[in-house]
Amino acid sequence: MRPISRFAVEGISEVDVQSELETARREDLHFSDGHILYSMCNAPQQLAIRAHQLFLEANLGDPNLYQGTKALERSVINMLLNLLNGNSSMDGAAVSGGSEANITALWMFRNLTKKRQVVLPETAHYSFNTAGNLLGMDLRYVGVDDSFRMIPEEVKQAITADTAVVVAVAGTTSHGQIDPIDRIQKICRDNRVNLHVDAAFGGMVFPFLERAGHDLPAFDFTLDGVSSMTVDPHKMGQATSPAGVLLVRDGKWFNAIKQQTYYLSVETLHSILGTRCSAGVASAYAMMRMYGRNGFTQLLQDCMRKTEILAEGIRQLGFRLAIDPIAPVACVRFDTDRTAKNAQERLAKRGWRVSRTQQPPGIRVVMMPHIPDRVIPEFLADLSNLRSSA
Ligand code: PLP
Repeated sequence: MRPISRFAVEGISEVDVQSELETARREDLHFSDGHILYSMCNAPQQLAIRAHQLFLEANLGDPNLYQGTKALERSVINMLLNLLNGNSSMDGAAVSGGSEANITALWMFRNLTKKRQVVLPETAHYSFNTAGNLLGMDLRYVGVDDSFRMIPEEVKQAITADTAVVVAVAGTTSHGQIDPIDRIQKICRDNRVNLHVDAAFGGMVFPFLERAGHDLPAFDFTLDGVSSMTVDPHKMGQATSPAGVLLVRDGKWFNAIKQQTYYLSVETLHSILGTRCSAGVASAYAMMRMYGRNGFTQLLQDCMRKTEILAEGIRQLGFRLAIDPIAPVACVRFDTDRTAKNAQERLAKRGWRVSRTQQPPGIRVVMMPHIPDRVIPEFLADLSNLRSSA
């Protein structure tokens, strides 16, 4: 579709507008094609779409006009706190996704502590760079071990009198790995430093895998030293975008970022955004109520079943995986960035969309529920043709 260059004086018919939209949509790729193998977003289900449509007008940025939507937000926060071993004295806020949750967390801890340093793993999501840049905070990266987990000893060394917050990840973007959060939280407690856990992906993955019998390290509010967490229902939680959540151990901390809102239905707000999309919150609510813990456990078991089939196929082709997957993420190692890029491009020519990892050089697949079983052998067949460049 050729982008429109001018704002026309006269409008066109609804039918013509619809046809333009359909043209644009045809040019998009879609999860239903089964070829997008790296996205952590999901193909929305019918109930999620209906929930989204019902709340298109709502605006959580003006919450007293939308008491019902506010109750849905509260319910989503309560359900997530309950899932992640929090309690009723804790709080949270619906945001647009993992990036906004991470930026808000750093903003809150900077203002609360009046300190500016952030200690975080090399594997942290790029939204922390955005946060550092926006907030004028200094990011001090610490190394990861052979399994791409943050090294606690390096965290200890990196903490200074100016550390506002340490960040650890549960479900890293590249590998789905969990940092040793138990050890890190002890270091944070000893040093009286806040710990933010970015569980944007893992927050709605690991609790269900644990229920399915997977042996996983603790990462959530069970650990006293965990101050706040990012969780994204719009990833594995099957909600429509945008739907992210920031959970905090103490709701009073939000006072550190509250702003006066003289023209709205409430006196103060503590969000980065003014008008806030509420439809994603409604769809998050719908998916959590529809699936329940049992439904999500089955969903995750199925994602792990497909991931293991893929991982075994990758090994049989003679490729190496970066780690044995603990989440539905499989990363194929290559020797250099150049060979990984080459592999990504050659797979793209066969229709596959995979993303690259930096550490180690590799390509990665996120096995979301919408990826059908049939694509696994097809993808492996095309991957086998790359064998020589690995
Ligand atoms: N944190 C982690 C660990 C992620 O993997 C991602 C995105 O994949 C984000 C944060 C950012 O989430 P969003 O794209 O919803 O802003």
